[in-house]
Amino acid sequence: MSRARAVFFDRDGTLMEEVHYCGDPARVRVFPGVPDALRKLKEAGFRTFVITNQTGIGRGLITEAQYHAVQEELLRQIGAGLIDAIYFCADLPAVPSTRRKPEPGMVLEAAADYDIDLARSYFIGDKSTDIECGQRAGTRTILVLTGYGAEQGSQPDFTAHDITQAVQIVLRGSHGPASGSESPCISGSRP
Ligand SMILES: [Mg+2]
Repeated sequence: MSRARAVFFDRDGTLMEEVHYCGDPARVRVFPGVPDALRKLKEAGFRTFVITNQTGIGRGLITEAQYHAVQEELLRQIGAGLIDAIYFCADLPAVPSTRRKPEPGMVLEAAADYDIDLARSYFIGDKSTDIECGQRAGTRTILVLTGYGAEQGSQPDFTAHDITQAVQIVLRGSHGPASGSESPCISGSRP
């Protein structure tokens, strides 16, 4: 049996509205279309993970308990069974870290925990640190223009308006014939 494919998602600005150092579950707003997009990925056999930097914990701006309360509300709004696992990193930017994005540590952990084929997987996020993280881990990458996406200067494999379109790109690459022009990455490695 072949190893599983996965989609790794950034949290803030990708799955939910960007809230600076969100420590309050009442401020969690999952983007429309997220549950539906995740359901389609699960139906297509993808594992789904959230990979999130939470330096607010390291900075003392939010507590770990607040972080977990926000995570619980995120999962409640998304719905049951659509996220396999969430990895977060509280390390401060000034501290050497193998896990804090753009370092790929959290993705590599998930890949080891769930036997993921990274070359056939995707990282979707709104910041250049997300794109770099995916690239370093060996995934394909999609920048979404929600959150900070429009401000970023990274070189993703694809750019999408939002998560719905990003997931369409993933599913198009995994099922159908490559549509040609925009996708040498997909057409070159289609199973
Ligand atoms: Mg983000």
